Amino acid sequence: MKDLNLDEEHLFDHPPDQIDTLLKHWCQQQQQPAFRAKQIRQHLIDQRTYDPSEMTSLPAELRKQLSEGILRSPLAIADQLISTDGTIKFRFMLEDGLSIESVWIPTDDRGTLCLSSQVGCAAGCTFCATGTMKLTRNLHPREIVAQWLAVHATTVAQGLCGVTQVVFMGMGEPLHNYPSVSRAIDWFSSAQGFQFSPRRITVSTVGIVPKIEQLVQDHPQVRLAVSLHSAIPETRNAIVPINLHHSIEELSDMLVKIRDDSRRISIEYVVLPGINDGPIEAKALAHFASQCGAHINLLPFHPYEGALYPAAGAAEVGKFQSLVQKNYEGSVTARRSRGLDIDGACGQLVLKNLKGPTTPNDPDPAPPQ
Ligand code: SF4
Repeated sequence: MKDLNLDEEHLFDHPPDQIDTLLKHWCQQQQQPAFRAKQIRQHLIDQRTYDPSEMTSLPAELRKQLSEGILRSPLAIADQLISTDGTIKFRFMLEDGLSIESVWIPTDDRGTLCLSSQVGCAAGCTFCATGTMKLTRNLHPREIVAQWLAVHATTVAQGLCGVTQVVFMGMGEPLHNYPSVSRAIDWFSSAQGFQFSPRRITVSTVGIVPKIEQLVQDHPQVRLAVSLHSAIPETRNAIVPINLHHSIEELSDMLVKIRDDSRRISIEYVVLPGINDGPIEAKALAHFASQCGAHINLLPFHPYEGALYPAAGAAEVGKFQSLVQKNYEGSVTARRSRGLDIDGACGQLVLKNLKGPTTPNDPDPAPPQ
């Protein structure tokens, strides 16, 4: 194995099935005995001790080397806002000074973590605060895994239940950063990683069709959510410009192809009054969902500063829900908004703190190599 570059390499950027080899190799480089690798693994995986400074059976110098090297934290909490409904929004500062956000949402005995996969987003959905930022860069696997570790540790320390569900619905289109997202899922759920149930992980996409197939092949138990927002091509082109690259028909064909009763597919639909909430839209949505047997989840739109659409309240969502349900035998639910008093919608908090350059928007960029 080539030497690890300790300035750049991080354990979580490598596949979890290489953990033993990598730790052994790293210990050799640090001139530490081989048994230290096993101890580090036990702390990290078996005891879920993520902060090297708390790996108390290790010598202080080794803990310091881990904290500065392969187990350093690639992000730090810059803001933590707590909503009156218990939702917690985190803004994280990355090593290069950029910001992302994660949201922890409590429901009964569950804690759902909404993760970011990119800094900004190139998909440019016209209702989304993150979409207005454009894409700055993809997150590394370590930055995705670290959101989970940091939110879990912080919420547990506050006497809360920690992270019991993970949804990739934060900043970014996860399938535009598939290699990092896939590796992070491996760390969350594999036998060599943290053994978190893949059925508790949902990847949400606006419809990057070829990558949906890859996701399902690589992670058959992970749940899929599709951000549809309209099943009528002209309306969807205006709301979700990715539709110009991957059409509704192409998306529908793929969902029918991967349909499997053991894997739940859900359709996310933000209700935009006067835009996508009429009877024709309801019928089109019901037809789309019936083809792939999906669950439909309706969400109200809450405007942010500069938003293009008016707000939708519970009444508008309820009315549209009835219209859809008249045409659809499957389940149709309306999700209530959480964390509205803390800039709860994706990207709003970072947008407020935004600094630094962005790159021109390409709604369907080539995946990173
Ligand atoms: S909704 Fe998701 S995919 Fe669309 S612009 Fe926002 S972050 Fe990107």
